[in-house]
Amino acid sequence: MAIVTFGRITAPGLPCYSGSGMEGEDISFMRLALKEAQAAERAGEVPVGAVVVVEGRVAARGANQTIAACDPTAHAEVVALRCAARALGNHRLNGATLYVTIEPCAMCAGAIVQARIARLVYGADDPKAGAVRSLFAIADHPQLNHRVAVTAGVLADECAALLQSFFAARR
Ligand code: ZN
Repeated sequence: MAIVTFGRITAPGLPCYSGSGMEGEDISFMRLALKEAQAAERAGEVPVGAVVVVEGRVAARGANQTIAACDPTAHAEVVALRCAARALGNHRLNGATLYVTIEPCAMCAGAIVQARIARLVYGADDPKAGAVRSLFAIADHPQLNHRVAVTAGVLADECAALLQSFFAARR
């Protein structure tokens, strides 16, 4: 897991985002989330990665680390949300966008709502545990007083392939 201090982009090869449009931005930030997922995979963790972006800049990143941290809640999204809140000195991440390679589970979708994330962008659907579209609709449930805008399917094939090869290698 790499923590990036708010306002300072340290990742190598980051493109300039000005004028690239939301779609191009989404792909660029999803590539960063994919890098986190690959780091998780190298550490023997299920390869899921997340990035929190505020005003076009990376506030925090997270890689799934449930085994290393011996923490069932250390999913990439929760790791990134905690890092972002600490970096920004605010438990509310109003206006932030969270990028994650796979559709969040119920715990993470709940955490995203608690953090008041404005927008969620994820890669592949998770038909077995996804709580945004697949099994539940926690992020934008009409009865919640905070609803998260959702964009699904960004680099979905790459995000899914990473997980599939990880589990195939373990069978
Ligand atoms: Zn989760």
